[in-house]
Amino acid sequence: MGTVSRLPLIAGNWKMNLDHLQAVALVQKLYWALKDAKHDEASVEVALFPPFTDLRTVQTLIDADKIPFALGAQDLSTHDSGAYTGEVSGAFLAKLEAQYVIIGHSERREYHNETDEVVRDKVHAALRHGITPVICVGETAEDLEEHGAAAVPVGQLEKALEGVAKDADIVVAYEPVWAIGSGQAATPDQAQDVCQKLRDVVASSLSEEAAAATRILYGGSVKSSNIAGFLREPDVDGALVGGASLQADEFAAIIRFQKHVGV
Ligand code: PEP
Repeated sequence: MGTVSRLPLIAGNWKMNLDHLQAVALVQKLYWALKDAKHDEASVEVALFPPFTDLRTVQTLIDADKIPFALGAQDLSTHDSGAYTGEVSGAFLAKLEAQYVIIGHSERREYHNETDEVVRDKVHAALRHGITPVICVGETAEDLEEHGAAAVPVGQLEKALEGVAKDADIVVAYEPVWAIGSGQAATPDQAQDVCQKLRDVVASSLSEEAAAATRILYGGSVKSSNIAGFLREPDVDGALVGGASLQADEFAAIIRFQKHVGV
């Protein structure tokens, strides 16, 4: 797989942070930090995942100022419309030009009881509306001790891809739960090992072509000081970044990993 070139994707998951006014300030600051650094826009794709209430504002801003960031949501409903109070349809996200949606983040699995079946149904909902799902999988510290690193994420991805078209456009994010927000990232070796197994799942569940084209991200305490190690691995094609995506200069440095660390 090492010979296939996939455009790196650096994704910023803001979680439940920043109202729509703060969102404008961060997007502008990030854009100018990259401009000042003469960042090569074509070298890496940047996607931002603000809260729902910020989406329209961020979409308008990036559209008006031609800012080269993709937009994504942090969740969507399994349903397309109807009596589902509080839910947000993929149809509405598509109208906002959201290209991506995070599905199955460990915080949703843990605090909102999202099962593997719900995650699978959300993957189908995203694809129905032409939105690329960023499918999050990962093991807890207990899973790691009991089953090793790969077994749980591999099982979660197999379930999430049930019934998905062979040529579907998807992104996978390997996020060990113990590494999220803990300051304790996995090692590049650990990430590579699991990402390679996840690529094998894409090959067997979808197709070899899809496996070669799919970006597999690492997530969990990514910073500008450790990003390069992950991106050197052949099966790690980018990062899903939480906390560090809220600081414009730090996130800009992560986006510029190719320059400042000479990958
Ligand atoms: C995340 O929430 O997806 C994440 C990886 O968070 P952090 O970077 O803060 O560990």
